[in-house]
Amino acid sequence: MNLSHPLELKLLLQRHGFSFSKSLGQNFLIDEHILDQIVAASGLNNDLCALEIGPGAGTLTQKLAMCAKQVVAVEIDKALIPVLNETMAGFDNFKLINADIMQVDLMQLVKEEFGSQPFIVVANLPYYITTPIVMNLLESTLPVRSLTLMVQKEVAARMTAQNAGKDYGALSVAVQYHTSPSLVCKAEPHCFIPQPKVSSSVIHLDVLASPAVSVQDEKFFFQVVKSAFGQRRKTLVNALTKSPYIHIEKEKVLSALDQMGISNTIRGEKLSIQQFAELSNTLFPASL
Ligand code: SAM
Repeated sequence: MNLSHPLELKLLLQRHGFSFSKSLGQNFLIDEHILDQIVAASGLNNDLCALEIGPGAGTLTQKLAMCAKQVVAVEIDKALIPVLNETMAGFDNFKLINADIMQVDLMQLVKEEFGSQPFIVVANLPYYITTPIVMNLLESTLPVRSLTLMVQKEVAARMTAQNAGKDYGALSVAVQYHTSPSLVCKAEPHCFIPQPKVSSSVIHLDVLASPAVSVQDEKFFFQVVKSAFGQRRKTLVNALTKSPYIHIEKEKVLSALDQMGISNTIRGEKLSIQQFAELSNTLFPASL
């Protein structure tokens, strides 16, 4: 059965009495070329395990299982379990977990399924849960090598944005602190059934062996970043001194910027991740 063929996929789903749920973000990928690009970008090989979140009917899952050591997929929708049991029947390196990825204990799941083996994550998820899942994985101590994700085009732009661009924000800094992100390809609505209203992009986040910049205190670094972007239109000095997350005196910020050779009228969005690190290291410790 060719699951990327729209008619074959529709017949399979009909046979199981399945109907698409909008609230679960069920837009199934049917573009063979994009499916292959996701697998290639993930760097999967038969020494590596893969965690797939939201396998749907198993179109991508089949391709992952063909080259992975082991694939574990977490799918929330009970109605897809019989579908996946059929489409994944020939793979003995595959395990399906019927659960909500937002509710499972990821640390425990990964330990139980993969032990301490490195793994990669592949997901084509509803857009509203992508960011919390990505951050949860990146902030964990799990041996995750990379994440290859189908995300809304705008989210991909924010994750890869450099300083001073309109898409640059706290998400760009957080993603680039932990990973080296790259855009794999675009996916227009006609690549899915049913067609979504928005355009998507596939993004690959290669997890760094150590963070991109060295910071004295990670929590404080991210509070500085969050404060700087919380009030984008304000100067950095005003955004930091009026931040709800940290308490820093104006004189201290002015002196830190002066020391770094940065104008005191600069906005936070102009600072590179390296400059945020230098600034937070200079300002630390401040009363939180
Ligand atoms: N991977 C398939 C594909 O590319 O064709 C399906 C992708 S579809 C955009 C999203 C999938 O994520 C659906 O199968 C949906 O049921 C599942 N899903 C949605 N929310 C989820 C959650 N909280 N936990 C696990 N799976 C979820």
